[in-house]
Amino acid sequence: MQGGYQKHIEILLDIGIDVKKVRYANDLRDIDGLIIPGGESTTFSKLIQKQNLHKKLLEFIEKKPIYGTCAGLILMSNNISNSISVKSFNVFDITVSRNGWGRQIHSFIEEVDINGFEQKFKAVFIRAPKILDSSKDVEILSTYMDSPIMIKKGKFLGTTFHPELTNDTRIHEYFIKMIENSN
Ligand code: GLN
Repeated sequence: MQGGYQKHIEILLDIGIDVKKVRYANDLRDIDGLIIPGGESTTFSKLIQKQNLHKKLLEFIEKKPIYGTCAGLILMSNNISNSISVKSFNVFDITVSRNGWGRQIHSFIEEVDINGFEQKFKAVFIRAPKILDSSKDVEILSTYMDSPIMIKKGKFLGTTFHPELTNDTRIHEYFIKMIENSN
């Protein structure tokens, strides 16, 4: 309904995955996993409530894997330090600061290590959230300057950066494996 979904669609099609855009509750019926893309978390939150999707998404989250990139991760965080207008799904017990990397470096690219990945990953950060704190049940798969940037908890995955903006399909493949393992 908003934000950078198109690039996710392209990368998923590239690796042979059937894709469906989710705009209404009915769209959630026959999908096995959901990616909440980057965009503007406040706008997402408004649109989700306007379409009466919040409760339906919570029901979906109970059963199926979700991956949030950037604003998507903000929507999955249970504590957003600098926004009161985002209604979260409270999936990750973390504290995030929206646009937390500061104005000067609000967009940047870094080659980062990810647990279990042999080669580094080119992480694209665009006005990215900064994870300030995370509880022990959140697995940290990658950090940058001591802040978690890729996290996992059970069937939920989050990155503060945008893997869909590279040609590197590894994180999407990783999420697809999580979906396969959860079935
Ligand atoms: N700064 C945006 C927000 O707070 C997130 C930016 C992004 O998704 N690239 O929602």
